Amino acid sequence: MKPFAIDAFDFGRLKEQREGEIPVAELPRLVKECVDSSGVLHWTLKGGVHASGHPELNMQVTGAVQLVCQRCLQPFSFAIDADSTLVLAQDEEQADEIEASLDDEGIDVIVGSKAMNVIDLIEDEALLAIPQAPKHAACSGEGAAGSAESIVVKPSPFAALKNLKH
Ligand SMILES: [Zn+2]
Repeated sequence: MKPFAIDAFDFGRLKEQREGEIPVAELPRLVKECVDSSGVLHWTLKGGVHASGHPELNMQVTGAVQLVCQRCLQPFSFAIDADSTLVLAQDEEQADEIEASLDDEGIDVIVGSKAMNVIDLIEDEALLAIPQAPKHAACSGEGAAGSAESIVVKPSPFAALKNLKH
């Protein structure tokens, strides 16, 4: 897909909607976090107007990426299911004002642009959805105890000696 830009303020005010698919391979910052560049993300961008009167964008991103489990170091498929609402400010100063007046941790205020790169928004959303230390719900080989912290068993030095004697 070619990069494309929207007028974020108009997109919100006019309640426009666009959706599409983008290969993970076309998102270089995301690829860096993944084992490989396989997979496709589906995205939906909806414009709207926040209760405070400011235009907003709702970005939803779903799809699977390949991450490395930080417990067993095996690659696994991580399902991204992200949904964020971004309230648009004209500049940094207004962004701080809106942030203070909303006082809502669940809402992000960003500085909008008349030429906002939608691909960057999709990539940001996907990156935010990836945990810092991704892990399997249950690593294979650990069975039902997968959710417990794994214990590293060091081979006994005596075991090595035994092997030498044989
Ligand atoms: Zn694992």
